[in-house]
Amino acid sequence: MAAEKTYPEIRDAVVKLCSQFPGEYWRRLDSDKAYPTEFVQALTEAGYLSVLIPEEYGGSGLPLSAACAVLEEIQRSGGNGGACHAQMYTMGTMLRHGSEEQKNTYLPAIADGSLRLQAFGVTEPSSGTDTSRIRTTAVRDGDDYVVNGQKVWISRTQHSDLMILLVRTTPRDECAKHTDGMSVLLVDMRDALGNGLTIKPIDTLMNHATTELFFDDLRVPAQNLIGEEGRGFRCILDGMNAERILIAAECIGDARWFTEKSAQYARDREVFGRPIGQNQGIQFPIARAHIQTEAAALMVERAADLYDAGKPAGAEANMAKLLASEASWAAADQCIQTHGGYGFATEYDVERKFRETRLYQVAPVSTNLILSFVATQELGMPRSF
Ligand SMILES: Cc1cc2nc3c(=O)[nH]c(=O)nc-3n(C[C@H](O)[C@H](O)[C@H](O)COP(=O)(O)OP(=O)(O)OC[C@H]3O[C@@H](n4cnc5c(N)ncnc54)[C@H](O)[C@@H]3O)c2cc1C
Repeated sequence: MAAEKTYPEIRDAVVKLCSQFPGEYWRRLDSDKAYPTEFVQALTEAGYLSVLIPEEYGGSGLPLSAACAVLEEIQRSGGNGGACHAQMYTMGTMLRHGSEEQKNTYLPAIADGSLRLQAFGVTEPSSGTDTSRIRTTAVRDGDDYVVNGQKVWISRTQHSDLMILLVRTTPRDECAKHTDGMSVLLVDMRDALGNGLTIKPIDTLMNHATTELFFDDLRVPAQNLIGEEGRGFRCILDGMNAERILIAAECIGDARWFTEKSAQYARDREVFGRPIGQNQGIQFPIARAHIQTEAAALMVERAADLYDAGKPAGAEANMAKLLASEASWAAADQCIQTHGGYGFATEYDVERKFRETRLYQVAPVSTNLILSFVATQELGMPRSF
């Protein structure tokens, strides 16, 4: 299958690493709702989770397109990078907006795996996608901020030492712009747990280690403020674009996995005395999913290139995420259809990946919000909200 390839050496090495974690491994975790600790450990030791950390802090200092290659190949191998992909983009907030002291303290430890930064706390039950309405507050008290509120859908908190947390430090109605007055705190989960932070796991469609968080007078040292107080939204925006591009790359990996599976099965499975893939009713939708994937992959590449060149990449990051998540879903749907009844059997991994890839049309940002962004910001139509 023609699929063009940046970073071939990295891709080959990631595929090799992933071959130690075959379908049975992911199936067992899925049925136990367990975290892929060994896989994350292997990726960390091989240095793949620190590809974006500059060399001076112990990482490889590679561009976002290299991180895309890593995540795409994990998904294409049948695994799930959702367990650890946040480490790649959350550290960007610290890298771009953290003080020298914060960077020197945390980034080398994140790079060598002794500290895990896997949690990114933005979403809240009452605000949903409307981030400016978050209600979790941080009030300065001496050398600390005192945090109260609630977050929902915060993933990997039970497998992370640190969390990037978005809070309100000035009430929304006292700010000139509704995105002002929010701040970013680095929370050390090891100190916080049981001292004002409670974590409650959420059971989900797929194995995703996501949780609800409750803050009750949690004290966070003021020195853990990242960037300027009140300008936190800007600090996380860059990270969000990186997140969208990386997750789009994961969707491309998923889509390619599904389409390769579909084509293989269509060649092998014989019904009515011939391979089912000889029927155009089977082969055309698989070809269409492939075409959709390759087109989306070009947009992912373009978004990553713009991001790596330091140019505005917001529109392309959003469009790449939308196209790639729709391509992976189309490929997933066709993969189930091609497998007939066997698509529903866990041993084929198709139903597991089908459940896993569905997430990406909702999180990290839902399709409607991307459409709204493009309609209003790119095409100049009036806002509906
Ligand atoms: C498994 C999982 C893991 C997650 N991990 C994290 C994480 O680690 N950190 C984190 O901060 N968040 C995380 N999220 C949250 C995720 O980013 C949100 O679920 C997502 O942004 C949508 O927010 P919501 O669920 O509140 O939906 P809502 O905002 O309630 O929206 C519901 C639906 O309505 C649509 N909608 C809302 N407003 C409009 C409008 N004006 N016009 C048209 N349609 C609209 C949305 O598109 C969506 O389809 C995760 C979510 C899931 C499910």
